Amino acid sequence: MRILVTGGAGFIGSHLCEYLIKKGNQITVIDDFSTGTIENISHLLENPNFNLVRDTVLNENIMHLLIEQCDRIYHLAAAVGVKLIIEKPVHTISTNIAGTERVLEIAHKFNRKIIIMSSSEVYGKNTAVPFNEDDDRLMGATKYSRWSYACSKAIDEFLGIAYHRQYALPVIIVRLFNTVGPRQVGHYGMVIPRFVKQALKGEPITVYGDGTQTRCFTYVGDVIRALVNLMDTPQALGNVFNIGANEEISIYDLAVKIKDKTNSSSQIQKIPYDKAYEKGFDDMMRRVPDISKIHKIIGYNPTYSLDQILDSVIDYTKKNMQA
Ligand code: UDP
Repeated sequence: MRILVTGGAGFIGSHLCEYLIKKGNQITVIDDFSTGTIENISHLLENPNFNLVRDTVLNENIMHLLIEQCDRIYHLAAAVGVKLIIEKPVHTISTNIAGTERVLEIAHKFNRKIIIMSSSEVYGKNTAVPFNEDDDRLMGATKYSRWSYACSKAIDEFLGIAYHRQYALPVIIVRLFNTVGPRQVGHYGMVIPRFVKQALKGEPITVYGDGTQTRCFTYVGDVIRALVNLMDTPQALGNVFNIGANEEISIYDLAVKIKDKTNSSSQIQKIPYDKAYEKGFDDMMRRVPDISKIHKIIGYNPTYSLDQILDSVIDYTKKNMQA
């Protein structure tokens, strides 16, 4: 099968390409390297079944060519990471909305099957966990850039569903819940790679807010298997699925766990949200997925516990810090 992965040089995209190549597919990646890196895919570059295009999904001519030549599309290209979103709000909104619009338009032209990555951010500040795909969404005020990401992803979902309803385009939408694993970096805000690096360097572990906010972390390998299974499941078309794990932990407890696992001498330092992000920053206090829908359709269950995830990230980070 010929597969196009937009954003394939990113953390999740690179794991997806690796998996799909092992299964004997031909992969083309389009990535503008805004957050992706060549290191993420350097081990794939020599593979004759791997093709890299360094460009943006907004380039209509290139996308035309690439979509015409593929059978299926995984659309991962997006601006991600809370820090990046706050620092570059215009880039976030236009990349996420115009990018997805372009990809869908051309996918429709050639009738290509497509999975669109959305995010658990779309649930917003709702605290009625676990979040079911059909739950209401609760967004903060537009003066807080953070919510532009959630809204841009919600627009992507609306667009995908609209193309499915109006033109019968084979579209699947997934909402990812804090995907983590090797190769994820902390520059754009992601908490686990940041805490692990801080702990290994003996620097303060920076807990934002009072640390009572919770998350559920999902191992990237579990996400990849779910994406590929959904792509192969005709009943998934036109649907939205949560992909996540349900082991909930507070960010403060996460800091303690990482400090213990790394035998670190780091202090755990609480930093007010205003200082960490922007004035009046609104966090999501809890984020737990209801995964019954995806379990029912493809038998999905996360296989990595939080301890296993942390061990793999710590191991990876140690090796890379030495290199
Ligand atoms: N966080 C933190 N310290 C950091 C980075 C993040 O306490 O150095 C917190 C962040 O405020 C949020 C949680 O960790 O409550 C998860 O953050 P991340 O950016 O990884 O993902 P989010 O779930 O916010 O999209």
